[in-house]
Amino acid sequence: MLFCLLSVFQFSFANDDYIRIGRLSQVSPNASYQLHFDGEHYIENLDDGSVKRVESTKDYTVDFENGAFYLLNLGKFPLSETRFFTSNDTILTVNGKRYLSGITFGQESNGKIIPIELLSLDDYIKAVLPKEIGSGAPIEALKAQAVASRSYTLSHFGHHKNSNYDLCDTTHCQVYGGYEVRTSATDDAVDATAGEVLLYNDVPIEALYSASSGGYTANAEYVYGSAVPYLLSFSDPHSTGDNAVPWSFSLSQADISAKINNYGKNIGKLVSIDADYDKNSGRVKSLNFIGSKEKFKIKGSKIRAFFGYGKLKSLLFSIDYAGKNDNSNPVYAISKDKTTEIDVNKSFIYTEKGIKESGKEVCVLSASDTSKLTKASKNITDSVTFHGKGYGHGLGMSQRGAIQMAKDDYDYKEILEFYYPNTELIDEYK
Ligand SMILES: [Zn+2]
Repeated sequence: MLFCLLSVFQFSFANDDYIRIGRLSQVSPNASYQLHFDGEHYIENLDDGSVKRVESTKDYTVDFENGAFYLLNLGKFPLSETRFFTSNDTILTVNGKRYLSGITFGQESNGKIIPIELLSLDDYIKAVLPKEIGSGAPIEALKAQAVASRSYTLSHFGHHKNSNYDLCDTTHCQVYGGYEVRTSATDDAVDATAGEVLLYNDVPIEALYSASSGGYTANAEYVYGSAVPYLLSFSDPHSTGDNAVPWSFSLSQADISAKINNYGKNIGKLVSIDADYDKNSGRVKSLNFIGSKEKFKIKGSKIRAFFGYGKLKSLLFSIDYAGKNDNSNPVYAISKDKTTEIDVNKSFIYTEKGIKESGKEVCVLSASDTSKLTKASKNITDSVTFHGKGYGHGLGMSQRGAIQMAKDDYDYKEILEFYYPNTELIDEYK
């Protein structure tokens, strides 16, 4: 997710009093929507700006006919040009789910009809927190999440600029659960930090976060290819042990070959896997599957998609298979009177006088030549095990780390300072 950075900031919140959330999770497959207003409400015609006030409780059925939308109760009235607003004490439900302030509709290029909820920034954040960090987190972690989510939201307008809404309600943007998921604890965290936003160069930051950094945060350069001054790699002692969410899984040689086949490649029998690591974040940059016929390479975010996001929980991982870099494939140095096993991991040199540590590379010297030895690596014969730490992209705040910091008596400002270095927290963002 999240591949647009500062350049997309093009929104001044003061110019509008609500944000538009594309409720992708609430899309009705047959475009069947029932709107119920329990009290006074307003219908705005977006075409001419006229507003009609409706006093009574009312139900509307939305109909989709010949490529256009109509409100059955109002006659043929194109919904794409209509907004419904509630007054303060009116309850609006859409297919039984409460929408806080209003609704309009949009249509995706694939024809899907998207209900778009209209509500204030903080009402939106209040139904993000329970889904993104959980209402059971300590209050200082909830407050840190509230500020991160608010900053992220402000930085993120424009991500759906081709649709009729600002953000969607899925992991693509932030998971928004709707009014029903709100709790008093998460509401309190949002109220306690009202107006507080993290800035860099006077602009709200893209305050990315993930479930766990695994003990070491990722950096933007590694993920995006360009550096961001507040998304840096550093040691995260608050996300270690259980908070690193250690994980592992194994796949057979055949399982992996089948996955590669899904990409339209037949590399033959999988022989070995080479991983290239990012030196700053310790994360895997690319994987090269070496087969008996050819190679198959995947890079960056495609690696998690290859194995499945729920399985390969982060890119902070190592690969293990029987025989890989162990001593089951020994290298021997043979001299006139003895044979000595060389530990290729320690680097020795064989000379006429015996074997000594070189400190550099492993070489074989003969009378006429010098040859470099590479590490013994046994081919894959069975399954491959992936051991990793962390859950998510690892950029910015680690939620497990934030929860640990709160338990260790850090306040939310200290949590934000730790995870978003070089930023400024202001308390009256307009
Ligand atoms: Zn989105």
